[in-house]
Amino acid sequence: MRYHIVTYGCQMNKNDSERIAAKLEQAKNKPAQKESLADLIIINICSVRQSAINRVHSKVNKIQKQQPKTKIVLTGCILEKDKKRFKELNIAIWPIIDFKIKAKCQSIRHAFIPIMTGCNNFCAYCAVPYTRGREKSRPAQEIIKEIKSLIKQGYEEITLLGQNVNSYLSPKDKTNFPNLLKMINQLEGKFKINFLTSHPKDMSDQLIKVISQSKKVSKQIHLPVQSGDNQILKKMNRGYTITKYRNLIKKTRQAIPQAEISTDIIVGFPGETQKQFQNTVKLVKQIKFKQIYTSAYSSRPGTAATKLKDDVHSSEKKKRKRIILNMIK
Ligand code: SF4
Repeated sequence: MRYHIVTYGCQMNKNDSERIAAKLEQAKNKPAQKESLADLIIINICSVRQSAINRVHSKVNKIQKQQPKTKIVLTGCILEKDKKRFKELNIAIWPIIDFKIKAKCQSIRHAFIPIMTGCNNFCAYCAVPYTRGREKSRPAQEIIKEIKSLIKQGYEEITLLGQNVNSYLSPKDKTNFPNLLKMINQLEGKFKINFLTSHPKDMSDQLIKVISQSKKVSKQIHLPVQSGDNQILKKMNRGYTITKYRNLIKKTRQAIPQAEISTDIIVGFPGETQKQFQNTVKLVKQIKFKQIYTSAYSSRPGTAATKLKDDVHSSEKKKRKRIILNMIK
């Protein structure tokens, strides 16, 4: 069967798509040369935002009209109520959890290893805890065994994945994330270790120390701040203040002078005033991030933020997004 994968959303989703492709190829399927030639189209969704679900609906509509014989499957983060609506349209749903633990990208010498799934944080705008469930970490020994085997096969880059890797805790021996990194760093072989994603509230001094002392661990650190305003951060339920975030960056840069820090920012969260947005601009100027992934807020049904009025006009959100994007050198 010839397949094509359409991916919407975050880096985690892109990595999931690579694992889905690896699994399909193991089962002797082949990638279609183009979408219109596919017998099977897999749409991998991140439903953090309603706009993503709207895009999926129009995509499904288009495929059903233009390629009526093509089978469509949805996977990724999908809320129950959306699953129901898609099933009514005759669309199959694959649970992403099936791909989470064992499969890995085989096509390049870079392996993506999920070390945990789910999230316990309930940020007000995010559907992940509802779609992927609560945090569940893999045993440290199982991860180490898998990485050893990948290094033997010649993999040169390992990316550890989780919605919040900083809260990783091995169920058997209670190894935490810094200690897991230390153990991987000590493995023999020439390889580099990356990790995604870190929640600023869980970035410990121990973790900063381990990154600074571990030669194989990448010094590119992604720390999503989301907003530069304390009131907005509180409404987002992020669990830190701007002072705490600034101190964290200061500590990290002192311990790891070569650190390259990137971030995520959401503009136009409900009630975000000009003054509050300017606080984000101020923070961006101060921190001088290496990279910023900016998105305009859109409401996601079922999340806490839907109870708030989405009152920043879309043209204003676009303007704020442009301002932030133009600040990246
Ligand atoms: S930390 Fe927040 S934004 Fe990230 S997955 Fe969890 S709930 Fe979503």
